[in-house]
Amino acid sequence: MRRTSTRLADGREIIYFDASDSAPDRRVADPRELGPVSTASEIRYDAALDEWVAIASHRQGRTHLPSADQCPLCPSRGEHHTEVPAEDYDVVVFENRFPSFAAAADVLPAGSPPGGDHGAASSEELFARRPGVGRCEVVCFTSDHDSPISRLPPEHVRLVVEAWVDRTCELSRLPHVEQVFCFENRGEEIGVTLGHPHGQIYAYPFVTPRTRRMLGSARRHRERTWRNLFADLLAAEVDDGSRIVSTSEHWVAFVPAAARWPIEVHIYPRRRVPDLPALDDAERDDFARIYLDVLRAMDNLYGLPLPYISAWHQAPVRIDRDLAYLHLEVFSVKRAANKLKYLAGSESGMGVFINDVTPEQAAAALRAANESR
Ligand SMILES: [Zn+2]
Repeated sequence: MRRTSTRLADGREIIYFDASDSAPDRRVADPRELGPVSTASEIRYDAALDEWVAIASHRQGRTHLPSADQCPLCPSRGEHHTEVPAEDYDVVVFENRFPSFAAAADVLPAGSPPGGDHGAASSEELFARRPGVGRCEVVCFTSDHDSPISRLPPEHVRLVVEAWVDRTCELSRLPHVEQVFCFENRGEEIGVTLGHPHGQIYAYPFVTPRTRRMLGSARRHRERTWRNLFADLLAAEVDDGSRIVSTSEHWVAFVPAAARWPIEVHIYPRRRVPDLPALDDAERDDFARIYLDVLRAMDNLYGLPLPYISAWHQAPVRIDRDLAYLHLEVFSVKRAANKLKYLAGSESGMGVFINDVTPEQAAAALRAANESR
């Protein structure tokens, strides 16, 4: 693999990942005239929920579903200058022009939430706000506008894994970053504004609420049993078998017993590791195969590309790495070929999911879809 880091016209970093060392030189100048990137995002503390919320109003001006010949993620060809100056690429990553979190110098990180003593909370504490430091990156999975990741060969998906590993290592070194989140939103139903196959990476200046909660559960489980919660969940799913979707030498894909979404698959490595960089070569190769299995089964389910969110759960950069267990959660809002699951009153108002499909039915349907493709 060859890695080439260079800069776009406005100073943002762009990194090419090429499978072959003999790929053409990717260091092509960006001829566009671009204004400075807005870094005006801030995070505000929600004292009622003990969570940070990012406010990034500059994102309203984002490009919305441009036609393929106007796509900003395709390589630059002729007079069509895109976010990627090179004529072609295998996998490319660059800093988002409309970041929810952005680099900024000399600011305080959002370490722990305010509070601590027993005095009355000041409005400064109740309305705590800080600059939204961090970083947001775009990962283009392929230069081919019309090839979703589910239709790429395993060797190419493996190159995407290398890009995720590289970014997790690099972003974890940034002083204010507490957690690195690699994810993909696919489909207009999910709110995707660009049709080109791509994912994103968020480097957050705090540990996310979901991760904090999962690690809290893992800590309580360890205090009680001296065992790892996620390892026990995985072993119990393998033992039970009814919700397994696919297995391989190094990975297991299953529908969790308490799935929230009509289609939801979790993919765990058999060996507990904290994050993507900790996977060995065999595990990375094998992931490409099982991920394609799962995505293709999902596409096969209703005979059309399924909208989904694919979310990597990695250990925080600095804390609780011994409790975490790397895994991927893939889920879809589609509950039938032409029906969407909406996050309505119970889900959005109270955080209680109502799933119309039993996880065992969903797993059986995915197994059948996997076999019939
Ligand atoms: Zn494109």
